[in-house]
This record gives sequence, C-alpha cells and structure tokens, in this order.
Amino acid sequence: MHLPQEIIRKKRDGQTLSAEEIAFFIEGLTDGSVSEGQVAALAMAIFFRDLDTAERVALTMAMRDSGDVLKWPDAGGSGSGGPVVDKHSTGGVGDNVSLMLAPIVAACGARVPMISGRGLGHTGGTLDKLDSIPGYKSQPDLETFRRVVADGGCAIIGQTADLAPADRRLYGIRDVTATVESIALITASILSKKLAAGLDALVLDVKVGSGAFMEELDEARRLAESLVSVANGAGVKTSALLTDMHEPLASAAGNAVEVANAIDFLTGAHRDPRLEQVTLALAAEMLHLGGLAASAEDGLEQARDALKTGAAAERFGRMVTSLGGPADLVERPWTHLRDAAVRRDVFPEAGGSVAAIDTRAIGIAVIALGGGRRTAADTIDHAVGFTALAGLGDTVGPDRPLGVVHAGDDDSAAKAADDLRRAYAIGDAPVPRPVIHARIAGEAE
Ligand code: URA
Repeated sequence: MHLPQEIIRKKRDGQTLSAEEIAFFIEGLTDGSVSEGQVAALAMAIFFRDLDTAERVALTMAMRDSGDVLKWPDAGGSGSGGPVVDKHSTGGVGDNVSLMLAPIVAACGARVPMISGRGLGHTGGTLDKLDSIPGYKSQPDLETFRRVVADGGCAIIGQTADLAPADRRLYGIRDVTATVESIALITASILSKKLAAGLDALVLDVKVGSGAFMEELDEARRLAESLVSVANGAGVKTSALLTDMHEPLASAAGNAVEVANAIDFLTGAHRDPRLEQVTLALAAEMLHLGGLAASAEDGLEQARDALKTGAAAERFGRMVTSLGGPADLVERPWTHLRDAAVRRDVFPEAGGSVAAIDTRAIGIAVIALGGGRRTAADTIDHAVGFTALAGLGDTVGPDRPLGVVHAGDDDSAAKAADDLRRAYAIGDAPVPRPVIHARIAGEAE
C-alpha cells in the first residue's frame, strides 16, 4: 500500500520514486483523493530534488493515462491512414506555424490531430487565432475531430476536458505555489497532453530569444533534451528544433492578421522567409520521423511540393470547412475575417537599421490592444494586432514604418504605436543569427 505523505517524504529526501508510486499519486491527484496541499508539497519537492529520466517518463505516462488516450485506426505508417504526427511549440510572437504546418504535412500523407492551446503570458495561441474564423468550431466533440482528421488529414482543435485531466489540476496548483519553473514538471505537463492524442511521432519547436519563455540557448536546450528523451522513453519518436524568437516569426502578430498571413503563405501570395524556413524544417522532421520521408531533405522536398501544387492550401480549406468555417476562406479571407476599425503606419522616431527587438513587448502590446487576455475570463478582439513588422537588420525611416497597427479606436492605436516604437532599438544592424539554432535527436537516431 502507498501513502501520499510517504511518497512526498521520499522525494523530499532526494530519493528516486518508482513508477508505481508515481502512478498511485497521479491517480489520487486525478480522483481528488490526494489533497491540494499534498500535490503542492510533492510539486515543491520535485522542484528542489528533480526527477531523473525514468521518473519523468513514469510521470508523463501516468498523467497521459489520467483521461482518454486517442487511438487511430491503421496508425503506424503502413496502413491506409498514414502515420499520426504532431508538433508542439513552446510559444512565441507571430508564431502561426501550426496553421500551415498541419495542412502541409497532411498533404504529404500524414494524419495530424493537433490539439492546441490559447495564448499564455505574452505569447499568442493557435486556438485564439482559429477562433477569428467565423463558424470554425475549435472545440468539437471527439467524433467530429476523428472524422475531420480521417477526411482531410488534419484538424486543429482545443484541449478537451477528457484529455490528461491530471495536468489541469496539477498545473492549477503549480501556478499558485511557485512550482511552474521545473523542467521535470514542464516536460510531463506538455507531453502528457500531446501523447494523449495517440501519436506515432512528435516534433518540438523550442523557441529561444526575447519573445520566448526561454531567453537563453542553454536553458532552451535543457528543456528540449528533457522533452526529447522523455517522449522517446514513452514510445513516441520525437526530435526537437531550437528556433529563433529574437524577433516575431511572422510579420504579423495578432489573431485574424496571423490567419490571413498563414493563408497568404499557403497560397504563395506572401511568405515571410524566416517563417518559411521554420515551417518547412518542422514539416521535414515530421515526415521523416513519421516514416513518410527517407531523410529530412526528402521531407523538405515533399513539403515544398505540397505548397507548390496547392495541395496544402486545399487541405487547410477542407479543414476549415469541415469544422464549420466558410468554404471560400482561402480564396477570399477578408470577406470573412474581421478587419479593425483603425489601421495606421507606425514610423520610428529616427531612421536606421533595426538593431534589436523586444519581442515580448510586442506580444504584450497585442494584449493591450485587446488581442489577448489579461485575465482568464477576458474576451478577445480578434481583429487587432500588427502587420508588416520590420525584422532585425531592416532599414526603417520616413518611407519604411516599423509596422502597421490594427486597433479598435484611435486612442488604443496611438498607445500601441508608442509600445511598438519602444520595442524597437534602432542603430547598427545586428550580426545575423541562425533561424534554426540546433536539432536535438532521440538516442535511437
Ligand atoms: N506549457 C504547459 O502546457 N505546461 C507547462 O508546465 C508549461 C508550459
């Protein structure tokens, strides 16, 4: 028989927990028989004493199994359905990669049941972006989710109450007990939700820089290594890319404006180069890990082809329509997306090169415009945000604005323009950074 207090004591004293002890504790956390105080105490013991890889795997699997774990017929690559693959990003600004990535990879033969989140802190959320599409049901029942994936290969939806419920309770307790910043707990939290979707392969996009939760490369690398070893340990082929977030990834930041940016990307009307590099690299990884491409280079070719032939745009349109959105969103996005009342160029005080960008401040400026939440209960204005954002090294001045603000009224436009000017440092062009800093592979590779 296990006792929660004995498990807490063991971890408090720096000992290793068995998989049975971890599973027992998570069962109690899920059914409420372990108290909030006990959960908080174990979280704090883990924060200080940490978990080794085997304990992290056991915690992730116990949390994954606390609710439904989806199963996909013929999963595994050789059946008619294609491998079941997904991507998780640690979050950034102008990170609308999922909107293009899921249809690109689906067009290449994979199935992508993507469960996405809302904005967290200064970062935008894929779900909030999709909610700017009129009619799009981002919280369908699981049967609809399955049908849409079976039909078009991809569906991007919100977290449901049935997947990894242990994480919801644990995250809520961590949030108010200063135990969020533990790599062991972050790893189990992220992976339990992703692995509950029944994946064959997963690619992680761990962001680094002024717009990321992890600003330093070393810190991001530690998280990526933990995620990759634990997910592989839990039986899902996983790799990670460390990608740059020292500037917004897309030239748009907001909700409807990022959907429009994604549609322009898919149709070829406009592709931000850094966004293209990250999206194609992630697609290549997913196709390679999922067994659809012989190498990442082959995956890259397939992904490029899916864009060139229009197959990816078609898959995106099919997903939107199947989930209740307009049938001609891809052809006529602005017939359906709501435009902001005020649209204004923001010029710098003095011209020159963009030397640095406080990317986090741009994310906060979107929230201040009403495009994100200050409290969980806030509703979002999907129309607001920024477009045509200048990147690092770009020349700005009286003929080239820092960006265009989309706002609900003149006052909030003026305030957002000031915020944007403050986020940009003008001076000497910075030394260019790579867009992809590193790739972290599983041990088996
Ligand atoms: N995102 C999650 O889902 N969980 C964490 O613990 C941190 C970020």
